[in-house]
Amino acid sequence: MRDFAAELEERKQAGLYRTRRQISGPQQPALVSDGVPLLSFCSNDYLGLANHPEIIRAATDAMPSTGFGGAASHLICGHHDAHHQLELRLADFTRRSSALFFSTGYMANMGVISALAGRGDTIFSDRLNHASIVDGCILSRARLRRYRHSDMNALADMLAATDGHKLVVTDGVFSMDGDIAPLRKLAALCRAHDALLVVDDAHGLGVLGPQGRGSLMELGLSEEDVPILIGTLGKAVGTSGAFVAGPQLLMDYLVQKARTYIYTTAMPPAIALATCASLDLIEREDSRRSHLQMLVSEFRQEASALGYELMPSRTPIQPIMVGDNWAALALSRALEERGLMVTAIRPPTVPEGQARLRVTFSAAHSSQDLATLLSALADCRSLLSKPSAEVV
Ligand SMILES: *Cc1c(COP(=O)(O)O)cnc(C)c1O
Repeated sequence: MRDFAAELEERKQAGLYRTRRQISGPQQPALVSDGVPLLSFCSNDYLGLANHPEIIRAATDAMPSTGFGGAASHLICGHHDAHHQLELRLADFTRRSSALFFSTGYMANMGVISALAGRGDTIFSDRLNHASIVDGCILSRARLRRYRHSDMNALADMLAATDGHKLVVTDGVFSMDGDIAPLRKLAALCRAHDALLVVDDAHGLGVLGPQGRGSLMELGLSEEDVPILIGTLGKAVGTSGAFVAGPQLLMDYLVQKARTYIYTTAMPPAIALATCASLDLIEREDSRRSHLQMLVSEFRQEASALGYELMPSRTPIQPIMVGDNWAALALSRALEERGLMVTAIRPPTVPEGQARLRVTFSAAHSSQDLATLLSALADCRSLLSKPSAEVV
């Protein structure tokens, strides 16, 4: 039998062993982690809605009439009024003709990609795409061509050299780097080469675009430009689940073919109604997005001034590049000693030699929270041996 213990030991030696922290209480910047209070800069609750009273109330108000459990899959008897209502709301929110509610973003990517491409087809995928996209590509059994991150010349060459059905898939906002895909260019290339474009906007929805409608609506890209939009609801939306939005024909097709939609229990209806309440808040409250933007710009300015190497991101994902796995862990631990929680992200989540601290901001962070982070970063600066600011 395979030596599982040795494999784990090897991971530990390489600084790659992962552990889980146990959180008590609700998700918010002031977290209790393994019994210790910490100020967190690592959740994806970008708008601070995970613990919002209106969303909690929508869920609890719903339950006396909807019950709790989903009880069956959508195609048996699990498809509830509440799910239908959410799908209409999501279509309207993203300015698409229709939407389909999935249980998680991981399942949405697995189901959508494997339904829309198969044996004999070709999928083009950005090298930095989320793991669930990569797994969806593998599951599809289509030929997989990975292009260099956001490299549109490379993609154009690959598309031109390929016959048959083509599907291009990209993150809207890249989850570990925080940068935004060249979406206009992608839409134009896909149109020119008759390729189907799929954009996973897990980190753009709620954060970017007018009223938080996402990175596609920020650029005014319609469903003709980008036929398939995937969004997740556990991040800025603050609830749970995911969706696909696009033309009715493709949603009808997915109901027939997306196995992760078909062969799973419907989400509790109360979650769908809580999500509707969250979308109302997101549309209504621009102040969350402007506060978030202020935190991000101030952080970028101050952290660069301290000599930290940031990445080209204007989103709430603001990684501090470190490189070495152990150095990333050491910086994360030093911040923790100062009461802060910022996770080190290591391979295989990011490429070898690109370990980093993934700092994420939430509208729930105060200016004082940011000041606390910056002052701890100032204290810990000497931990990184090569001050990037001194490299000419
Ligand atoms: C988080 C994430 C997912 C997975 O969504 P879940 O609902 O958490 O399963 C998919 N795609 C991207 C880009 C993500 O960041």
